[in-house]
Amino acid sequence: MIGDSKIFYSLDVSSELRSFVNSLCPKGVFVIADSNVAAKVIPAIGLPAEWNILTFPAGEESKNLTTCMKLWATLTGLKCTRSSLIINIGGGVTTDMGGFVAATFKRGITFINVATTLLGAVDAAIGGKTGVDFEGLKNQIGAFAPASAVFIDSTLFSSLPREELLSGYGEMIKHSLLHSRAMLDEILELDIESVTPGRLNDLLRRNIAVKSAIVKTDPFETGLRKSLNLGHTFGHALETFCLKKGNGIPHGIAVAHGLLVSLILSHIKLGLDSGLIQLIATLLRNRFNSVPAISCKDYEEITGLMAHDKKNIEPGHILFTLLRSPGEPVTDVAVDTETISTALDIYRDLCGI
Ligand code: NAD
Repeated sequence: MIGDSKIFYSLDVSSELRSFVNSLCPKGVFVIADSNVAAKVIPAIGLPAEWNILTFPAGEESKNLTTCMKLWATLTGLKCTRSSLIINIGGGVTTDMGGFVAATFKRGITFINVATTLLGAVDAAIGGKTGVDFEGLKNQIGAFAPASAVFIDSTLFSSLPREELLSGYGEMIKHSLLHSRAMLDEILELDIESVTPGRLNDLLRRNIAVKSAIVKTDPFETGLRKSLNLGHTFGHALETFCLKKGNGIPHGIAVAHGLLVSLILSHIKLGLDSGLIQLIATLLRNRFNSVPAISCKDYEEITGLMAHDKKNIEPGHILFTLLRSPGEPVTDVAVDTETISTALDIYRDLCGI
């Protein structure tokens, strides 16, 4: 359970989802899915004919209030009531936006998430953060609203492109760094492209438990939950930077690069063992796709993007979540821009950028 969410690990989501939905006795079931998932995944799951399916164009560009308004209008037209059920089937875009649509429609109706991306399973579908982008800012409008249940079935990931698998893998590495060296070693040994669904479900169960435990202690991110931002200060900046260069990269891949930068800073500020830096650098070089070349001329822009999130700044400093050792995160570590530039030099060197 996370908050009020029950998590089902399944290799047969179709029948387990139906029986859970039947147990809720909803007055109408409304499925929200993006165009890709509606075409590629829903037919494979096979939903009851009486369930209504609402779709929107796939992609982050759809995660906004305009799409929400279309979904609210359709729900109204189809007579969705407070006793109805919304099921979000998809990746993080769908569960973030569908969760927000459900949390706000008629002051909130029950919803379920079925994660169809690895990133969604390990991160976005759980933990109760819902929302949409607004005026160019990610997740600017939203609400904390946990799904009643989250379904995780790794057989659904077989149609995911390699980049999307790596994106989820990046967040799995983050959770393992927050847990222990033993979990990190196990995750680093994994070949995410050939792992069987059964083994992946097992790894996800333990990996998600790391996030669950943190969210349970601090559901509204006033303290410990900030440790889940490990790798995200540089990761978010890199994501935006790449997008601006017309070469967008999936969220978890940017986070994987952000992890390396945060480990370098952790070594400088907290004395983290440098062996970990080499381990993650080797992983990035060997298994993650390259990112657009960053030169020292880009540091000002990237640091500016890191400082964009007001909660990340102190005068002359940016606040980072860092690591003293695996399983020992430290939140709100103030780092000056000169040290950030040094870390970026080392990062570029290690990645051969
Ligand atoms: P996504 O939902 O856009 O999915 C990525 C792509 O994969 C899409 O094109 C989608 O149509 C496609 N897809 C989904 N399932 C598929 C399948 N089984 N087979 C083939 N294609 C499939 O993006 P994502 O990477 O899952 O999630 C990113 C979003 O999640 C971002 O908006 C981010 O802000 C959000 N997020 C939220 C949280 C949170 O705590 N709420 C955490 C992390 C990320």
